[in-house]
Amino acid sequence: MPVGSTATDVKLDEAAVRELETSLRGQVVRPGDPTYDQDRKIWNGSIDRYPALIARCAGVADVIAAVRFGQRTGLPVAVRGGGHSFPGLSMCDGGVVIDLSHMKGIRVDPETRTARAQAGVLLGELDRETQAFGMAVPSGIVTHTGMAGLTLGGGIGWLMRKYGLTVDQLLSVDLITAGGEFVKASERENPDLFWGVRGGGGNFGIVTDFEFRLNPVGPTVLAGPVLWPMEESPNVLRFYREWIKDVPDELTTIVAHRYAPPLPAIPTELHGKPVVMVIFCHVGPLDEGEKVVRPMREFGAPLLDLCARKPFLAHQAMFDPSFPAGWWYYFRSADLAELSDGAIDIIAANALKMKSRLTAFPIFQLGGAISRVGEDDTPYNSRKAGHTININATTETGAGFDEERAWSKNFWEELEPYHTSVYVNFLLDEGEERIRQAYGPARYDRLKALKRQYDPDNFFRLNQNIPPN
Ligand SMILES: Cc1cc2nc3c(=O)[nH]c(=O)nc-3n(C[C@H](O)[C@H](O)[C@H](O)COP(=O)(O)OP(=O)(O)OC[C@H]3O[C@@H](n4cnc5c(N)ncnc54)[C@H](O)[C@@H]3O)c2cc1C
Repeated sequence: MPVGSTATDVKLDEAAVRELETSLRGQVVRPGDPTYDQDRKIWNGSIDRYPALIARCAGVADVIAAVRFGQRTGLPVAVRGGGHSFPGLSMCDGGVVIDLSHMKGIRVDPETRTARAQAGVLLGELDRETQAFGMAVPSGIVTHTGMAGLTLGGGIGWLMRKYGLTVDQLLSVDLITAGGEFVKASERENPDLFWGVRGGGGNFGIVTDFEFRLNPVGPTVLAGPVLWPMEESPNVLRFYREWIKDVPDELTTIVAHRYAPPLPAIPTELHGKPVVMVIFCHVGPLDEGEKVVRPMREFGAPLLDLCARKPFLAHQAMFDPSFPAGWWYYFRSADLAELSDGAIDIIAANALKMKSRLTAFPIFQLGGAISRVGEDDTPYNSRKAGHTININATTETGAGFDEERAWSKNFWEELEPYHTSVYVNFLLDEGEERIRQAYGPARYDRLKALKRQYDPDNFFRLNQNIPPN
């Protein structure tokens, strides 16, 4: 297929495009424009799409104009926040992209302990502003992820066992509906819609502004990984499983299997060695944290211990070099009730089979504050799960990608007897049944009813879609 053919084959109504151009404070970008190739790039390098038009929005008025333009063209419409959707749902071939990534406003109010953030904000940008006041919103573990998409799916990360999901600290949103109308949602205003956006993704409209409650964090935390040889994985995981039963909510951990990366903090003799690591983040008193993590740190014979007192911002950025934009990524994910012997044996055996030096698969420890929010209070379906595993296959380019992808898929299939649910933000393009699993049948039906109310024609369908009918 010639480059860009899907985009250039689309005949746009030129009068409508001119009208959009004159009304936008941002820019209209089309095939052939100097920034077109940059603007259509998204994080996952295995996805390469050619939209007919990108509306780079500068504010709410632009979003309203872009939605009305999308309605007028009848073309598929994608909505882009941080561009980190695993299956690339924020970019489309031959359609219109409503690009929010330039909407970067953030305002922290230390007195009310709240923060407002616009839809183009990245996690690291929000952390930077909130940490200036010793506070934070619980979010994800890679700073260049978009705050918008992450929040709309739930949001899991280093602070979740202490402060819950990102949506558990969401206070209100401003949203533009499929009809181009401005709506507010909170516990008091449009509470049904507010329930829906706390996990139901971009199905109900475009959220232009998020308001969060802030909580004290750090700025110094006790955090970092301890590494063991990967062959030790079954023993490490069995010890870990028992040890986490008694750890306080201040501690969240992630287990990762990978080849040790060539980073300055890792001695050269370990570079490329297969390892299993437990990564800690303790956000309570530091001396208390030292006591809590000691048994795990002292288990067996670790190759390296990088757990130390450090700025929360530094810990948040720890995974950034492992997930740069442009590499090829494939993911399969599931929630697990617990790390049973059977699950551990499958995890340990498959870890040893990964080929790519770039593949790293995290197992998140859930529980704590997440599990104390009512199961029906938000659409998120993993409140009672013990862990979320994200079997990530990564290569730098297309070379070796198919093989690594097959490894991820087989591994995920072997684990199937242990799957409980799945986190919607970790889905690929896996079909409606999987989306239903991500919410559970009752909450899925409630989301469908809400979709019928707010978007009966399924205008917002390039997402983890909840069709109205
Ligand atoms: C490197 C990496 C690390 C990650 N780590 C975590 C993690 O630690 N925890 C976690 O919970 N998730 C994590 N994720 C998953 C992440 O939550 C999702 O990929 C999320 O969708 C990313 O949001 P985005 O705004 O960057 O994505 P985009 O691709 O821009 O958007 C994702 C989806 O949300 C919709 N959307 C985006 N903005 C809006 C808006 N303002 N209004 C309406 N709809 C909108 C899009 O249309 C699309 O369907 C990670 C992803 C990556 C790539």
